[in-house]
Amino acid sequence: KSTLDVAKIRKDFPQLSTTVNDKPLVYLDNAATTLKPQVVIDEMTKHLSQDVANVHRGVHTLSEMGTRAFEETRVTVQHLINAAHVHEVIYTKGTTDGINLLANSFGEQYLKAGDEILLSQMEHHSNIVPWQMIAEKKGAKVVMIPINDAGEISLDEYKKLLTPKTKIVSVVHTSNTLGTTNPVKEMAALAHANGSKFALDAAQSIAHQKVDVQDLDCDFMVFSAHKIYGPNGLGILYGKEDLLNAMPPYQGGGAMISEVTFEKTTYNILPNKFEAGTPAIAEVIAFKSAIDYLLSIGLDAVNFYETELLEYATSELKKISGVRLIGEAKEKSGVLSFVIDGVHPHDLGTLLDKQGVAIRTGHHCTQPLMKRFGITACARASFTFYNTKEDVDTFIAAIKKAKEFLL
Ligand code: PMP
Repeated sequence: KSTLDVAKIRKDFPQLSTTVNDKPLVYLDNAATTLKPQVVIDEMTKHLSQDVANVHRGVHTLSEMGTRAFEETRVTVQHLINAAHVHEVIYTKGTTDGINLLANSFGEQYLKAGDEILLSQMEHHSNIVPWQMIAEKKGAKVVMIPINDAGEISLDEYKKLLTPKTKIVSVVHTSNTLGTTNPVKEMAALAHANGSKFALDAAQSIAHQKVDVQDLDCDFMVFSAHKIYGPNGLGILYGKEDLLNAMPPYQGGGAMISEVTFEKTTYNILPNKFEAGTPAIAEVIAFKSAIDYLLSIGLDAVNFYETELLEYATSELKKISGVRLIGEAKEKSGVLSFVIDGVHPHDLGTLLDKQGVAIRTGHHCTQPLMKRFGITACARASFTFYNTKEDVDTFIAAIKKAKEFLL
């Protein structure tokens, strides 16, 4: 039985007591972005109202204070993901930015004509398109790992696709559309046994389970702060020190240099080499509060509670006639996608919104996956620890009402 005090937790998120269309908000779009706890809002406000200064530059008090806080977040992230070194933690603009950095910089250094990049059929577009772009530039090829009808990667299929040409495997930890959590530790070990590197898209897993980069032995890992109760416009790229050291900078500018002359520029050491320009300072500083908040509740407790809630929602949804679940993996977290016979997901989303229930509809930036399931769009409810059984009941009742109206 879960020990979370959800009633108390809900008070920490001011947006949960707002209304939408005159109905109390039932926020079930956590996979798109999570709501922010008061501690994060307070930290942003404090910085923006009292502590503004640029980092890594001035000798004045505010700049030094800001730099310290900015670097403290990096240590907090290091501990969250169990990175061996703090300079293996790179600030980016988000998951998408992190994968673009990785694809360009890794690709520049390691990819040549004929090489292969292995991605799964359930990847978000942001873990497909940047690889296609660098593959085109280098004459390399993107190869897809297929999934089964339940929405799972078959390790046998994966093994067959690992060849001497495979330079890197990049796979999502938890799918934003299916909720499937992939066996990434085994996948990383298989990639390494084949002499390939392994990158992990942890955008959907980082807020819901422990992601230990050393235990999983991934070479790279990316996620976004806004999906783990933090601010927008900020993400993390983790990379193993030796690989990051061997890779060229992604963008040039201030902070990433050691010395600039018109003849030749030398680059800064990690992590600054990959952090050109003024970063998202207030966001980075406030992000520490988000992580501390989540860890104070505890990832194990969160995971236990969310699993219970997902099971309840799944069993209630299945009782509604005409519902087809998209994604029925054994290992699943946080996400419940579905279609209903004769109902367009967009219409369903609109009617649910009228009842204050926020869900996502569309292709969820996973068009190849939609094609795999023979659909162009689906509805998705996604849960986190501040959601309740009552939220699920409101969601189910709203679907029934919408169905009556539409059918
Ligand atoms: N990968 C996955 C699995 C995601 O869920 C998302 C966000 N929907 C992304 C990548 C992209 O993240 P962002 O838009 O924050 O860059």
